[in-house]
Amino acid sequence: MEEFDYIESNKERYIKFWEDVCNLEGNSVDTDSVNSVVDFIEKFAISEGFEAHRYSFGGAADYLIVDANPDGEKGHIYIAHSDTVFDKGAFGEPPVKIDGDKIYGPGVIDCKGGIAVALLSMKALCECGYKKLLRLIITSDEEIDNSLAKEDGINLIEDMSRGFESAFCCEVGVEGEILVARSGIIRLTVDVCGKAAHSGIAYFEGVNAIGEAAEKIIRIQKQSERGGITYSCNLISGGERINIVAPKCSFQVDIRVKCASDKEKAITKISEIVNTDYTGGSNSTFTVDSERMPMEKNDGNIALFKKIQSVGKKYGIEDIGEYKESGGGSDAAYTVIAGVPTVCGIGTTGDFCHTEKEFSYIDSLERRTKLITATILED
Ligand SMILES: [Zn+2]
Repeated sequence: MEEFDYIESNKERYIKFWEDVCNLEGNSVDTDSVNSVVDFIEKFAISEGFEAHRYSFGGAADYLIVDANPDGEKGHIYIAHSDTVFDKGAFGEPPVKIDGDKIYGPGVIDCKGGIAVALLSMKALCECGYKKLLRLIITSDEEIDNSLAKEDGINLIEDMSRGFESAFCCEVGVEGEILVARSGIIRLTVDVCGKAAHSGIAYFEGVNAIGEAAEKIIRIQKQSERGGITYSCNLISGGERINIVAPKCSFQVDIRVKCASDKEKAITKISEIVNTDYTGGSNSTFTVDSERMPMEKNDGNIALFKKIQSVGKKYGIEDIGEYKESGGGSDAAYTVIAGVPTVCGIGTTGDFCHTEKEFSYIDSLERRTKLITATILED
């Protein structure tokens, strides 16, 4: 295939881009750093002959849309993000190291390898005569659930992808695995108010907020079901002194859901438990801190997955097993909501994302680029 020849003979330029863009780091909330990542991608994309447009929302670094064949009819979408979870300097200087067949550094698989995959696929297709519009959507606050760009950012993903044939979310890849569904996430804080009293002299006049929080946490976590909604209370703080009945306690809950209707169910359950006073005399409230919609499994996603699986086999690119579903969230949720058949986890492959051991296999850039490109060309 002509496109494969192009990918093979041009991959070095994209490996260099991958290394350079990871060296710029860019924690989601350090918007100056993320914007310099966006500047770099924008310049590279323009130098490759693409059109690029930036969008600013609230406190977020810019979202970037890169179009190939801007006047063509709608073809396919690629999605990735420019932010990472790491603080500047977490990987030392320089942040990126290449050792043998692996590249190590902040965001090498999550998700800048995916940006390189998307751009090389777009370039190979255009160079070989593909005429439809190919669009890469790069968000800048994916790691913090779009909490800076909020609805405006999410609406942009949906508006920019509506009407396209399919979407490839170039998130963290695992060898032989492609995702058709991801969980939605609700994060909330429960504040419990009790009553302070001397724990020796006036024990029975106090209301222990930590005790009340414990009653609630046990009941909340017990709602979790394998394959269904899960509730995880992973942060807690409370009390004032060892000899004062604890007047306050707060804890945070991480809830994972499979479909949009689960969100309502989960919130109803939480309200019920938060509004019940188990120990007597306490008063509690909760606040939703962030929400991410689930990437719901549907027939369109599964059909796209099957096409990728058969293309992988046909060209001997990658042996892909049965489709997978993940408990983690991603922006793929929003292309599915926009009605576009979507798969996720089709970026470069590797391991240990969100840790300082994060690495990617360098040759997966070529493999995953071929996989997407051949899928787009397959009837
Ligand atoms: Zn990611």
